Amino acid sequence: MSSNIEIEPLKNWLSLDGKPLVIAGPCSAESERQVMETAKALLDVPYVKYFRAGIWKPRTRPGSFEGVGSEGFKWLKRVKEETGLKTTIEVANPQHVEEACNNDMDMLWIGARTVVNPFMVQEIATALNGCDVPVMVKNPVTPDLKLWLGAIERIEHTGIKKIIAIHRGFHYFENSPYRNAPMWEIPIELKRLLPSLPVIVDPSHICGNRDLLAEISQKALDLEMDGLMIETHINPAEAKTDAAQQITPEALKSLIKNLIIRERTGTIDFENKLEELRTEIDKLDGELLQILAKRMEIIDAIGEYKSKNQITILQMKRWAGIIRDRLSIGTNMGLDEQFLMQLLHLIHKESIKRQTDILTGKKNK
Ligand code: PEP
Ligand code: MN
Repeated sequence: MSSNIEIEPLKNWLSLDGKPLVIAGPCSAESERQVMETAKALLDVPYVKYFRAGIWKPRTRPGSFEGVGSEGFKWLKRVKEETGLKTTIEVANPQHVEEACNNDMDMLWIGARTVVNPFMVQEIATALNGCDVPVMVKNPVTPDLKLWLGAIERIEHTGIKKIIAIHRGFHYFENSPYRNAPMWEIPIELKRLLPSLPVIVDPSHICGNRDLLAEISQKALDLEMDGLMIETHINPAEAKTDAAQQITPEALKSLIKNLIIRERTGTIDFENKLEELRTEIDKLDGELLQILAKRMEIIDAIGEYKSKNQITILQMKRWAGIIRDRLSIGTNMGLDEQFLMQLLHLIHKESIKRQTDILTGKKNK
């Protein structure tokens, strides 16, 4: 896969002084007061250049808050006038593009749900014709690099060269601590294909909660991503959308202040290789957990069976045999004996506990 589009490097149109680009603001514009209070508080946060707010919200199901619509433009204009911050909103159809351009928005973004649909991306691209505004393109919900690249190419073909990709994680069917799995190898590959394309990371939509934001933000910078988009709300608990992942401007300030901004010393190859290995580890850990869960399911079935037949839980002969056998296999594979002993005991302890719960009726399967 290759691409020969022309992207304007970020430093040609934004003065960042080697620092990350930070875009902050609420998931949704909810009221004039919420927008203004959030924006004013953001003036105190380092590196914030753009104020984000969704005025049209793509919601999974109807009936949820779908944004304030065009009324939000008045508030965003006030943000520009009173704070000097630039403004950016999500556009999801040609009508949105037209209104955003007529209302002096400084940058637009195309959301993850829109990028999955090349017809709509093309309609948006066509509507952008003649509108000289930078555009950010989020990755599609699904881990499909071609779809992401295709959307960027469609925008570039209209003549817009100021494009930023936003990595917001991918929907993933397996359990994960993240709302959207980061799958860093995909944005890294995008950067490899388009070296001048700025890529920023949206830790809010990757994490889905506040706890992991700092870790993902640091990781983004360590992987030489160009900036961060972080959802910020003056009162996150009352947010009408994405309440669990928004943080106050004050919390954002401390998050940003604690970030380590490392020199870019051409170590991207090293980082990429390391990332590759870590991705493999993540995958293996997932498999390990699945195997453990499966083992426990079988333990439960054995527990049921013993219970029905009035047989004791711990059968010493079997347990001694397991230890002997697994120690021999494991040490032959190069695993440390003491480590194996601890692991086997831990697994065995949990197995006994589950069977006891079944026997005593604490757990009914
Ligand atoms: C958002 O930025 O609020 C949003 C809807 O994000 P995404 O398109 O990444 O889900
Ligand atoms: Mn959101």
